[in-house]
Amino acid sequence: MLVLTLKAGRDAAPRRRHPWLFAGSVSRRGGEATSAQVEARDASGALLARGFHSPSSPIVARWWRFDDGPLDEPFVAARIAGAAALRRAVVPPDTDGYRLVNAEGDSLPGLVVDRYAEVLVVQATTEGTERALPLWLPSLKTLAGPQGAVMQKNDLASREGEGLPTGDVLLSGAAFPQRVAFRERGLHYLAEVAGGQKTGFFLDQRENRALVRELSAGKRVLNLFSYSGGFGVSAMAGGALRVSHVDASAAALELAREHHRLNGQPLEAVETECADVFEDLRRRVAKGETWDVIVTDPPAFAKRREDVDRACRGYKDINRLALKLLAPGGTLLACSCSGPVDADLFQKVLFAASLDAGVPARLLERRGAGPDHPVSLDCPEGDYLKAFRLVRG
Ligand code: SAH
Repeated sequence: MLVLTLKAGRDAAPRRRHPWLFAGSVSRRGGEATSAQVEARDASGALLARGFHSPSSPIVARWWRFDDGPLDEPFVAARIAGAAALRRAVVPPDTDGYRLVNAEGDSLPGLVVDRYAEVLVVQATTEGTERALPLWLPSLKTLAGPQGAVMQKNDLASREGEGLPTGDVLLSGAAFPQRVAFRERGLHYLAEVAGGQKTGFFLDQRENRALVRELSAGKRVLNLFSYSGGFGVSAMAGGALRVSHVDASAAALELAREHHRLNGQPLEAVETECADVFEDLRRRVAKGETWDVIVTDPPAFAKRREDVDRACRGYKDINRLALKLLAPGGTLLACSCSGPVDADLFQKVLFAASLDAGVPARLLERRGAGPDHPVSLDCPEGDYLKAFRLVRG
């Protein structure tokens, strides 16, 4: 296999079991690249880690193990079985949509698998993970079951950057699913697996949807950046009087209406507004609207460190305006899925938003993704989602 010898002093990260190798750490290449497998050795030749090679990425290798065992199908099958066992322990009842494999968080770097009932949607984010397919696909086929399907969703910026194909592929199963029905705590949803965002649904917000359900009895709920409406459907299930969804995508809003219908919820109590949230919020503030529960869940404004300042201005603007709309005692669930904006920074942004709005707010909880999205302590970069529960006054 390919052997990368690290520069002197660059072995600290793999010794701490950090799974990423950056190109600048490599001093010498040796061995033979017959597959995507690669190992790292320190300057003295001692083995540090084994994993898969992604030569066109700034992260040239991701480590799947830190000992001299093989990278073979039984090894990967055991990791996937461990991931599945964790989900059996943490996924709530009446729920068959969840993240089955969370990449680095399950010691399977670059591999994401979401389950929607009997359909598994895979994202192989790097060339190395893609080329490791013969090792992970057999386990996934078994987990999908004889009637199930495994599809690979490839429309990822990271894949484009590595020159990998970006079209979706059916890896096993009879037919290519467009939308897949699944349940979350007894509520019915459709994952838009072909063409939708992420793998078709934002599974990472499940526990935060449950919170909104608990808080919504008798309330008016404004769901900003709603996508297919999960927060609003949960709010109605919890007894919300009225829900308004705002998103720039008409197709996402149509699916939100479909979700209310599927759950037998009255569409008279639902509004969908196809608009830019920044502009929509200014209009609502000018009209003097008030809301009891507001969710702000924009797309990742910062994917890279260079974007952090601009992203913070965006988060501040949205939450400043949202706070102005909040009734006394109302709840703002302010979310950010930007990895480079960490929780402490996000809290400062919310403080600045509250100050500028002239609306005092208290922080009740700092929340994140659910336990089917484990974060490896070895790789804190996997901890991207923040959902801060604030109350006005
Ligand atoms: N809250 C959603 C996920 C939000 S994803 C859920 O729980 O399912 C981000 C959404 O923001 C996408 O649906 C995208 O269409 C929308 N969006 C991005 N920029 C926007 C903007 N400026 N105004 C309105 N919607 C926007």
